[in-house]
Amino acid sequence: MALESDSRDHVSAEEFFRICEAHGFDRRQDMLQLGGYLHDLGICLFFQDDELLSRTVVLKPEWGTGAVYRALDDPKIIRNLGVFGPADLKRIWHEPAYASMRAELLQLMVRFGLCYRVPGSETFVAPQLLSPTRPSYAWDDADNLLLRYEYDVMPKGIVRRLIVALHDLIEPGDNVWRTGVLLRHDLTQAEIIEDYRRRRLTIRLRGGDPRILLAMIDRELAAVHRSYPAIRFEKYRPCDCDRCAVAVEPTMFTIGELMDFVVDGSGIQCRRSRTLRDAAALLHGLYKDPVQSSGSAASGRTAPAAQPEIFVSYKWGGDADALVDEIQQRMSERGCTSPATATRWTTAIRSSSSCGGSEPASASSSCWTRRTCARGTACTN
Ligand SMILES: [Zn+2]
Repeated sequence: MALESDSRDHVSAEEFFRICEAHGFDRRQDMLQLGGYLHDLGICLFFQDDELLSRTVVLKPEWGTGAVYRALDDPKIIRNLGVFGPADLKRIWHEPAYASMRAELLQLMVRFGLCYRVPGSETFVAPQLLSPTRPSYAWDDADNLLLRYEYDVMPKGIVRRLIVALHDLIEPGDNVWRTGVLLRHDLTQAEIIEDYRRRRLTIRLRGGDPRILLAMIDRELAAVHRSYPAIRFEKYRPCDCDRCAVAVEPTMFTIGELMDFVVDGSGIQCRRSRTLRDAAALLHGLYKDPVQSSGSAASGRTAPAAQPEIFVSYKWGGDADALVDEIQQRMSERGCTSPATATRWTTAIRSSSSCGGSEPASASSSCWTRRTCARGTACTN
């Protein structure tokens, strides 16, 4: 395809649109959709929802990632434990290939979840280069709300991505390190610690109404989890009985079983003290409406609902085009526009790379429609 064979590392979005036009696209909406599709496939980088990055299409993603890792491998930034500023980036990205694109490359690092800006400053922090040592800080163990995630296979860097996403909430001072962070929102503090060896993420909250800060953490954590489609984890809450309160390893209930007991209306037994505990009270500390919050909040073991896909194979030309257009129109009226359109682009890309636009596709070729073929206007059948 024209974009893949282009030798440039990046082009402006306007240039990308011109290339699309030269290859048969006439609607801006279709060009943006193609750009989004190529981005999702990793063929190019086109962050359309980002004010700065939406002006550029990176045709060679390795150009971007190479520049990013040049910064993360820089000895001075490593010595500074991941803290860097504009002067460092000017030094690292001084060649013509990077110099005019420093702002975009820095924004790529932010979008990749590799660094964040310290609020109110020109200083940036790359969490993966932070000190591995947990700093000493005062933490009152009384009346903590504790939640633990246990993963079957724990992806590396979950807490680093949380740090980037929630950096506005980092407790001022030396309260962030490579595997953990202290957050604050109003009167609530949260401590998040990753234990990669034990495949655990532990969240402790105290003060105020912890459910508000927990919901903020949960939302970002869900976004991180979504980027690992095969991720499997269980979410635990410790028992609140007197014996468990002082135990090093208290009885842990999964959120799923607590939900079941809430629906059931019966107490859940602590395996340590044998007393019956109130499942609703245990969950009430986490969610304002425990039953409403069931489902994905409980664990990562529920398989997502399968999305139906529709494939239509047909011979190009004659009545077939009109028939397929009518099928798509009818599906569109029933709210099936997105899968159909996505499938059309898949075929458009395959069509453009297979027929090349220079030789007519065989009359027996199967295609979607003439409009969806990026080289459609050049094909004669
Ligand atoms: Zn107990």
